[in-house]
Amino acid sequence: MADARYQPKDEAAELTEFRATVRRFAEAEIRPRAAQAEATGQTPRELFAQVGKLGWLGINLDESLGGGGADKLTEMVFIEELCRVNAGIAGALMIQGGITAEIIAHHGSTEQQEAFLRPALRGEKIACWALTEAEAGSDAAAIRTTARREGDDYVLDGYKVFITNAPIADFAVVHAKTRPEAGRRGMNVFLVEMDRPGMECVRTLKKCGNRSSQVGELRLENVRVPASAMLGKEEGTGMNMMKSLMASGRITYGARTTGVGQAALEKTAAYVNERRLFGERLANMQLTQTKLARMAMHLDVMRSYTHRVAGLYDRNLDVRAESSMVKVFCSEQLQTILFDAVQLHGGYGYIEEYGIEQLWRDGRLYTITEGANEALTLNMARVLGLVDRA
Ligand SMILES: Cc1cc2nc3c(=O)[nH]c(=O)nc-3n(C[C@H](O)[C@H](O)[C@H](O)COP(=O)(O)OP(=O)(O)OC[C@H]3O[C@@H](n4cnc5c(N)ncnc54)[C@H](O)[C@@H]3O)c2cc1C
Repeated sequence: MADARYQPKDEAAELTEFRATVRRFAEAEIRPRAAQAEATGQTPRELFAQVGKLGWLGINLDESLGGGGADKLTEMVFIEELCRVNAGIAGALMIQGGITAEIIAHHGSTEQQEAFLRPALRGEKIACWALTEAEAGSDAAAIRTTARREGDDYVLDGYKVFITNAPIADFAVVHAKTRPEAGRRGMNVFLVEMDRPGMECVRTLKKCGNRSSQVGELRLENVRVPASAMLGKEEGTGMNMMKSLMASGRITYGARTTGVGQAALEKTAAYVNERRLFGERLANMQLTQTKLARMAMHLDVMRSYTHRVAGLYDRNLDVRAESSMVKVFCSEQLQTILFDAVQLHGGYGYIEEYGIEQLWRDGRLYTITEGANEALTLNMARVLGLVDRA
């Protein structure tokens, strides 16, 4: 029987062992819950605590903060294996253990880490990252949510869209302007409990893919928080905090896309070896073999490149360009893989019960979020010095 599972030959033994452990967990705990989560659009909440207990939320954060103490490379293996089984659930867990946890770990006070980070990493409190607004997506500096100082408090007003985990969150990492007149230099980040008066998830969005994660809109109306809810002490530091974490998030797209692509390859190889047409197996046709081989080849490059950039990150090198490159390259390669995977399934590729269309819908997201690919390529050109600064 054809076997499209792949084990990188140069992976360190402990990483291979870890990959096998995560795969067993994902197959045993995530796969059985995935179909219902996709159908109902509800993320299985209990998974947060299960993954937290294993030390895998904030897997690459310091153990002294409640993280897993692993490196970025290990995180890549973890994410790939989760996304191979279900990208939506993986995405929900990654918001929790990724960007929201990282910003508190890097910029939070000890009190903030105790109150928000540790419970989040144990999977007891669910977090969401509230940056995007209707008129501020790629142009994050255009946000209109404000945080007005009143005595010892800040009062927040605004409306956030596309917020993963918002419908199930216990707290939100909210980006707001403390000094709207200062543009990108007037932003700050606040930790806001969802049960504060005026804070509400008003709408859950129906999505084309990643249906097992919950994405909603947040309304903030006169939400009063103590000044200690702000990350950092100075007004205007939010944009720099966010920028310092963007590279970390973008590298994860290499692993996400590899996981989804790997699932597509495995499903497609199994299908074409079963399907018969013109009196023979679809897999016997040379064009099919070429397509499968190209899928495997692209995945190997995606995985290797992701691991290389994760390695650079682990050495504390400047990866502003490479993190964008890995995100753009892998998310675009994935579209080709998914196109061929659906195509090789013929009409069945378009039918839900075969599962390949779900991967196609899920994978479509990755060229859009955490920096649309167009914006990232412009950023690359600047960082690489390909364009003279006027
Ligand atoms: C399922 C899902 C989950 C999400 N989760 C979160 C979350 O948890 N928290 C959060 O804050 N946000 C989240 N987002 C928002 C996401 O990050 C934004 O959708 C993304 O930043 C793009 O912003 P936009 O949708 O407003 O598109 P726009 O900014 O309007 O961009 C539209 C298009 O313009 C093009 N474009 C953009 N910039 C340039 C450029 N410089 N040059 C040329 N063309 C360009 C691209 O093709 C882009 O797709 C999520 C979105 C989705 C769909």
